[in-house]
Amino acid sequence: MEVDVAVIGAGLSGIAFARFYLETHADARLAIFEKDSSIGGVWSAERVFEAFWVQSPLRMSSFADVALEIPDDAPRLHDTFEARYVTRYLEEYVDSHVYNGASLRSRIWVNADVRSVEKRGSDDDEDGGWLLHVDGAQPRSVCCKKLAVASGLTSIPNMPTFPRSPEWKIPILHHRDLGLHERTILATDESSAAYKNITVLGGGKSAADMVYGALKKGKNVNWIIRTSGEGPGIFMDPAAGGRYKHAAEGGATQKATALSPSHFYTLPTASLALHQNEAERASLEEKIYAADKRFKALANYHGREGALPGFRGLEPKASFFWSSGPIGVIQHSDFWDLVSKNVNVYRSDLCGTTSNAIVLTDGTNVPTDAVLCGTGWISSYPFFTPEQAAQLGLPHQPDDTISAEEKTWEELSKKADAEILQTFPILGHPPVDAKPVGGDTNLTPARLYQGMAPLNDSSILFLGRARMSNNFRAADAQAIWATAYWDGHVSLPPSDEVKRQVAYMNALSRRRYPTRGVDGINFHADLVHYTDKLACEAGIFSHRKGWWGDPEEPCLASDFRDCAEEYRGRYDGHDVEQTLGLKYHVHLSRKRSPRRWTAWLISALTHLLMVLLVLIAINFVPHARTILILGETPRPKLYSPLTPAIEYTIDMPPWDYWSNNPFFGTPSDDSERAWNRLIHPHGLQVLPDEAEHLDANRTVVTKNSNSLFMLGVYHNLHCLRRIRQTLQAEHYYPNMTAKQKESDLEHTSHCLEALRTSMMCHPDLTTNRFYWSHRPWHDLSVRPDVARECVNWDRLEGFMRERRYDPGDILKGHGDDLADDYKEDYKEDKKLKYEG
Ligand SMILES: Cc1cc2nc3c(=O)[nH]c(=O)nc-3n(C[C@H](O)[C@H](O)[C@H](O)COP(=O)(O)OP(=O)(O)OC[C@H]3O[C@@H](n4cnc5c(N)ncnc54)[C@H](O)[C@@H]3O)c2cc1C
Repeated sequence: MEVDVAVIGAGLSGIAFARFYLETHADARLAIFEKDSSIGGVWSAERVFEAFWVQSPLRMSSFADVALEIPDDAPRLHDTFEARYVTRYLEEYVDSHVYNGASLRSRIWVNADVRSVEKRGSDDDEDGGWLLHVDGAQPRSVCCKKLAVASGLTSIPNMPTFPRSPEWKIPILHHRDLGLHERTILATDESSAAYKNITVLGGGKSAADMVYGALKKGKNVNWIIRTSGEGPGIFMDPAAGGRYKHAAEGGATQKATALSPSHFYTLPTASLALHQNEAERASLEEKIYAADKRFKALANYHGREGALPGFRGLEPKASFFWSSGPIGVIQHSDFWDLVSKNVNVYRSDLCGTTSNAIVLTDGTNVPTDAVLCGTGWISSYPFFTPEQAAQLGLPHQPDDTISAEEKTWEELSKKADAEILQTFPILGHPPVDAKPVGGDTNLTPARLYQGMAPLNDSSILFLGRARMSNNFRAADAQAIWATAYWDGHVSLPPSDEVKRQVAYMNALSRRRYPTRGVDGINFHADLVHYTDKLACEAGIFSHRKGWWGDPEEPCLASDFRDCAEEYRGRYDGHDVEQTLGLKYHVHLSRKRSPRRWTAWLISALTHLLMVLLVLIAINFVPHARTILILGETPRPKLYSPLTPAIEYTIDMPPWDYWSNNPFFGTPSDDSERAWNRLIHPHGLQVLPDEAEHLDANRTVVTKNSNSLFMLGVYHNLHCLRRIRQTLQAEHYYPNMTAKQKESDLEHTSHCLEALRTSMMCHPDLTTNRFYWSHRPWHDLSVRPDVARECVNWDRLEGFMRERRYDPGDILKGHGDDLADDYKEDYKEDKKLKYEG
């Protein structure tokens, strides 16, 4: 069999490409090879099951040219809906698109598994191209000039491996196969009575869907999430406000992504300046923590009434911003309630089975009649040999002897990384426990131009390989770009520049997504800029919603609705405007018409204006950043010269944290040293440009014109020490006179008030657990060993030490004088033995 273009895979990517290519090359001999018996990939009739819903909202879940519609009475939550409607949509789509008398469906060969591919000749060779070996009912060899690999990242199940007892006969199914077995295992009638105890493995959205599906069928559900993996997913509420029906819509706008680090969009200088401002970075980090907390609040892992004890084990450690764990949305309003009260959650690894139970490493036996695995996917291309993978720039094991080529990549990568950290300093501060995941992390990244094109072979493209938050618009944008690329309408930069860009893209992917960007083409938060860039390189106008709609409305595949006509008009010279009555003008030649230029200019100016407005709002409208970027309740904030030194971490102190340390107990040399180190240096030198933001005229200054301040926390620590000393007065003040005692009491009372008011101003929000101490006094006690948000004290202390001063540095006679009523006390204080 011989074709012009062969496509491997009839999922979203393969279908979108075939549609656009045939729209613009109706005569082309194009064939799609699909190993399953039905089309649709993730959304195929074989794979969908009742509890499988689309996470994207309705209008972000269809291709450019035909909207997906669902019945009015179909269940939906925040515009998410059942996956079976996508199946129906795709099935109708491949029937309704007909080119040169042949529908898309008639060009798809199902049950056709591509087992291997061979390169034939060179690109310039007339007979060059690819030879595919396709297995199936009728094994065949297929020759093609161009090859589009669209076999998906979610085609090969990652099955868990654990020892099984010889008596174990229990079925183990992956999410991929539940659609085929749902009627047997998850029926409500007698037919599935044998499957009472369903055990679901995995912490992500696929697992969550299967848990919910099994619960709804009245099964006893166990949910096991291993401790050695990524842990439970972050499950968000898709609710959104205003014009958006789903949170993803608001996030997929030009407005929301105007400041996002991107390889596909050059941020305006003002936005870059924001990234490089330390205070901005610190403030963004605070907001990332707050956003993660907000997502967790929906589940209420620790305070949900009636929750089973294991429920809190579902609390994710991952961060949404960093994508450092599985991410999903919750599409059923009763999800958390049902799960918390009915599901036995286990956080443990699997170590074996009995005949009818899974055995966990902690010794628990989990009774099981069927195992459902939401354990992820192996995202490789088994039909390429390792040599082919290396040649095409797919992830591969680098040679033991590092070649000159590999050395060049290493240097480019180092340079790109340094540039990224300088441009986006926040990316140098990922969560501490964000470790790379996803197969073999020693592999090279995928070195594909725009996540699709190998650098040394233009006859093959990889579609659907880049990781995106919305794959419908991405599939259409890639289809347009791929067509233009093969038609010679995408002019690539010189090869050195292409390499530099690919190295930068790989490095940004790794920095932006420390756990899941290791393959170098993770563009999860970059849907808008990535798809815009592809359209732009293909010479297509990607935003057609007007000066207000473009930045405000979500980027949808339907923005590309008329792109095939535009493409034909631009490159083939069709009079599109006349025949299709399009609202916008498409010029008939390759040159852009003045009207077209005007449209581009207006669009560019509009975008510029929007970016400016956002920047102005963010910089000058109080709390705009908080509200615009993270939708939080605004928090008023004062300037602090300490902001660069503040870094929050999450830690978990040991149970004896409040009694086993040098600050605790009776005075000793060790405890004195510890306290002395803790409270010194308590004074802070503030530089003149920082002092401009503070009430610096009224404080003490140094001889080199720095102002001196004492941080609230150091005053508090001084007070604590003072109270400690008073409590042990026999040791610290053995010869105290009555007058001094009176004065000390007054100072201590002042200290108590300072601490009380400070604690109320900055409440410690750690949720310490109660426990029964069984002590005659204070039976109900509190323990410190829970996760808490903490300032990195070493970092703060380091900053303080850099800014310390000697008493000799102080310029006398500057700053407010003591209030008269303090003067006497102060003198008395001085007489005390230990000045805290
Ligand atoms: C459970 C789940 C839910 C998701 N929800 C969403 C969502 O709500 N919104 C969203 O945008 N994205 C979602 N995604 C991401 C999803 O991957 C994309 O929506 C999209 O389906 C990817 O399309 P694709 O064509 O690239 O890959 P796939 O859908 O995986 O299609 C690849 C096709 O290639 C075939 N194939 C593989 N190897 C061969 C071979 N050797 N020979 C022949 N054929 C082969 C496969 O059988 C498959 O049909 C979800 C993914 C999963 C797994």
